[in-house]
Amino acid sequence: MTLTALHTQAPEDYINPDDGLRYCGKCHAPKEQYFEPGQVLFGMDRHPIECSCAREKREKREAAERASHRASQTQKLRSEAFRDVPAALWTFESAGTMTPQLEKVKRYVEHWDEFRKDGQGLLLFGNVGTGKSYAAGCVANALINEMHTVRYTTISDAVNRMQGKFGADREEYLQTLLRPDMLVLDDLGAERSTSYGKEQVFTLIDKRVLSGKPMIVTTNIPLNLMQNAADLDDRRIYERILSVCVPILFDGENFRKGIATEGMKKAMKLLKG
Ligand SMILES: [Zn+2]
Repeated sequence: MTLTALHTQAPEDYINPDDGLRYCGKCHAPKEQYFEPGQVLFGMDRHPIECSCAREKREKREAAERASHRASQTQKLRSEAFRDVPAALWTFESAGTMTPQLEKVKRYVEHWDEFRKDGQGLLLFGNVGTGKSYAAGCVANALINEMHTVRYTTISDAVNRMQGKFGADREEYLQTLLRPDMLVLDDLGAERSTSYGKEQVFTLIDKRVLSGKPMIVTTNIPLNLMQNAADLDDRRIYERILSVCVPILFDGENFRKGIATEGMKKAMKLLKG
């Protein structure tokens, strides 16, 4: 008997008189197998094999290990993606209602492989409070669940960081925005609109486009203003974005008001008992 064989022995095992092999008392599958006729290894004519219940048990354990590994990986991806923004909690599942816009960005996730291959992203534009950032967060989280790397940042924050860094530091920071499979740049237009600031925005967006990886940009700036910008610095930024981002208009009722109403309904329900 090898050690392994001894290890897998259980009191309820029995020797099957038909073939002389050890069988599992639980699942009644053989726990041993003969070598080819005439073959002997270390004085043995047989070797241990897994019975059905042992295999099931091992597969269950391995699946649990894989699930736990995946959970810790996505946890890590999430903390790298969002840093200090609240979007880590914004998911399709937690959306009160699926607006037509959320349906659209969900289809973006469903066809991610194609969009990714083409380097195509989204431009989510519309008034304040229509759920653009939320929708971008939903995409980010859905991609993270599929183990893709994501970085979600406001453009203001990115510009401020780029302005405060030089040389290798700045390059290193830029790489954290260029490396991930998906980059979300939230709230274009809210950053300081100095010509130096615009230069930073252009550099970032241009490099991202050249990397061939998709990005999602959200903005309150109307699409027709982006398409007809008079300012040349603005125009070259917008042209870069519009060359790779599919515009989706966020309109209709105020999204945050909608959430408040949902929250109010829940509170009323709780108070009713
Ligand atoms: Zn068994």
